Amino acid sequence: MKKVMKYLLVLVMAFGVFNFVGENNKASAATFNWPSEGTITAGYKDPDYLSQFGRVHYGIDIAKSGTVNISASAAGVVTRSYYSSSYGHTVFIKHNIGGQTYETVYAHLRSASSLDVGDSVSQGQFIGYMGSTGLSTGQHLHFELHKGLWNSSKSNSVDPLDYLGETLGGTPPAGDPANNPSNGSYAYVKVDYVEGYGVNLYNNDGEYAGKANHGVVFSVYGEKPGYYSVGAGKWLPKEYAIYKPFKVHSAYPEGWGVNVYKAPDGAHYMGKLEYRDYDAKEYRDGYFKLDDDTWVRSKSVIVTKPKY
Ligand SMILES: [Zn+2]
Repeated sequence: MKKVMKYLLVLVMAFGVFNFVGENNKASAATFNWPSEGTITAGYKDPDYLSQFGRVHYGIDIAKSGTVNISASAAGVVTRSYYSSSYGHTVFIKHNIGGQTYETVYAHLRSASSLDVGDSVSQGQFIGYMGSTGLSTGQHLHFELHKGLWNSSKSNSVDPLDYLGETLGGTPPAGDPANNPSNGSYAYVKVDYVEGYGVNLYNNDGEYAGKANHGVVFSVYGEKPGYYSVGAGKWLPKEYAIYKPFKVHSAYPEGWGVNVYKAPDGAHYMGKLEYRDYDAKEYRDGYFKLDDDTWVRSKSVIVTKPKY
């Protein structure tokens, strides 16, 4: 039952995550795009994963059945394309974005990628099909993002959810909605407790669901009295969280007029978005709720994620 609930929630979370980039700006969009469609079944350093498999999860798992294309999250050069007993058929890609080196990993591919080491790839280029090769319990993509190069201790790994869809190293072209996706989150919370201690997390039924350490930052997907939804069906008590909303700003030049609505369905036109930063209050069905109780299409805005 717990697993079913989790899948239902991640389905909601992942709705609309796939980032379509226009053909003409594939090469220039300095953004990490979602590498595949699917639902997130395990998060970065997911406590559930640790308790289930006894090892830290340094990436995210994105699952979908059927034939699912995996694509390069950003433009770069292939650094590995091989079979590993743990990763299965795997491709590594090195990126240089705004002077910073990153490396992405695409694991458990159905079969060997046709890409070779040294190949240049463009953002969105096909890598292979989602599979279940190597140490895998079902069809999914295991995706890692490293700030710096991959190493065997994975010390450069970062939470891909903090980067996917985020604009790095510049402002996206005005009016380019492809740079403004949402994975369903609209804020961050940082766990604020005692250094070295964990805060209890709870599942949808209010049962204990593992611990989160002081300083860990989660994406926020929803709220209920006393708790933030931090993804994968887990809830963090508000009393141990420092909350920072995403900032939302018109993606179009001043004067272009982005519509705001009374509901997240494009109904009941309420006027135009002012040309300033708003706090995101919620995300639903492709719309952000703003601090004055109106809704704007996520495709019409630039989202700036807060830093701690
Ligand atoms: Zn994984």
